[in-house]
Amino acid sequence: MKRIDLHIHSRASDGQLTPAAVVNAAAAGRLDVIALTDHDTADGWVDGRRAAEELGIGFVPGLEISCKLNGISVHLLGYLPDPTYAPLANDLQVVREGRTDRIPTIVARLNSIGVPVTVDEVLAQATGTPSVGRPHVADALVANGTVANRSEAFDRFLADGRAGHVPHYALEPGQAIDLVREAGGVPVIAHPWGRSSYKVMTEETLGRLVQDHGLAGIEVDHQDHSTADRAELRGIAADLDLVVTGSSDHHGLGKVDHDLGVNTTDPEHYERLLALAGDPLGG
Ligand code: AMP
Ligand code: FE
Ligand code: FE
Ligand code: ZN
Repeated sequence: MKRIDLHIHSRASDGQLTPAAVVNAAAAGRLDVIALTDHDTADGWVDGRRAAEELGIGFVPGLEISCKLNGISVHLLGYLPDPTYAPLANDLQVVREGRTDRIPTIVARLNSIGVPVTVDEVLAQATGTPSVGRPHVADALVANGTVANRSEAFDRFLADGRAGHVPHYALEPGQAIDLVREAGGVPVIAHPWGRSSYKVMTEETLGRLVQDHGLAGIEVDHQDHSTADRAELRGIAADLDLVVTGSSDHHGLGKVDHDLGVNTTDPEHYERLLALAGDPLGG
């Protein structure tokens, strides 16, 4: 059976491997199809696709769009959208700028509680990405010896409610779904019951996103979901006739429990997803 991993990050956002390197690692790990889904940018697609073609594995270009519902962070995966569709490209740029422009504020807040880090140290961790955010601050704190790894940086300093958490502009999920669909892509809610989004991603909300905006799927098999969550989400997907995906949300070796292929997508659901793509502005 084909092994399909539909949620992977590279250095084009906050992954640790270049797009080509992560595709190589996926092929070495016997994956047949991967989606590159960097946060708010398509910058890794060209290199990722070239590497996948050389290695003979399937490549699905995707995005993970930063959204917010009632102040709670929600992530939307968009597969195969036209990245040149101007309303989408423009909004992604605004989101990226919102993430990046707050770096000096984050640094100042950390300094004010005695945590040593500079904006330059953060930017040095963010080579190859137009989408600088908290993970790069975390990497700077690892590099200068303040913490042992990204998780410790988030737990102590960067998670929501900690000193270094500064909110940023993000799209409404409905708005992002509309943009992805208008661009011919397929919208899938990432880890709906993950870290914070479990607070807002009720069956009712998901139903509304399906009804009003054409949400196509939900990511069910994800490390943030317990076995019980996965069973319940599968039921919701069946009720709402949604595509079910499974994926690693790989960010590189530094993020434990997210190894490439740790979760995969059923080939039938993958085919359903592909069949929904490429109908820009159409019904
Ligand atoms: P930002 O958009 O700059 O606020 O950064 C959000 C990103 O940080 C998410 O997409 C995750 O990749 C990462 N992240 C958030 N919380 C954590 C955490 N507790 N541990 C590790 N990474 C996290
Ligand atoms: Fe990330
Ligand atoms: Fe995410
Ligand atoms: Zn992700």
